[in-house]
Amino acid sequence: MTRISALEHLQSIDHELDDKNKRARQVEERLAGDPTVVAARTALESEDKTLAELRATLRARELDAKSMDAKAKEVEERLYGGRVGNPKELEGLEKELRMFKRQRSDLDDQLLELMEAVDQARSRVAEKTTALKKLEGTRSAEIEALSRERDTLAARLAQLAEERERTRGELDADALRTYDHLQRTKAGRAVANIRASSCAVCGTEVPTGHLQRARAGNELVFCSGCGRILAG
Ligand SMILES: [Zn+2]
Repeated sequence: MTRISALEHLQSIDHELDDKNKRARQVEERLAGDPTVVAARTALESEDKTLAELRATLRARELDAKSMDAKAKEVEERLYGGRVGNPKELEGLEKELRMFKRQRSDLDDQLLELMEAVDQARSRVAEKTTALKKLEGTRSAEIEALSRERDTLAARLAQLAEERERTRGELDADALRTYDHLQRTKAGRAVANIRASSCAVCGTEVPTGHLQRARAGNELVFCSGCGRILAG
């Protein structure tokens, strides 16, 4: 392997390392949690809470109705029990009874509305439970696939690290220093290929003399446009 082809090889290893490391981070992120599942769980929790609140309100109103019925019964018994003879008192009792009946009818409307709301909330909870279960099913398949991918990536990254060490070991300190510096300063691309006598990265034409020296592969020849190492 010539110096330049070793540098090209090193660059391709570094690029693949970057890509695979990036992907490995994405895989870890996806494994850590799925925002869709979290959102579905939150939505279900919120519907559950609404349902519980509506049920509690309904129970409270039902108790109100019971105590109202008991009071109305008391008034009715006094009104029709024959023990009260005073017309004024009877009139008062009648008024009271009418008021109870009116309040009771309002309460009935409220009870109906609440029952309907409970039904609706219950079916929303059922819907959201189904949706969450479905997502969790997809999620467990995804976790399996991601775990496999993580293993494959880890194996390849170990291979690349080894290959990188080996390739760097074949290169001299001067070439490595130049390569590392250009990797840092030239957007991770220290080596540029020559395509049709021009630098493939910046397009600057490479003079014939430079072309030959670059193609021989042992000298570091730099592009006069972008400063990268030219590989023939
Ligand atoms: Zn260039």
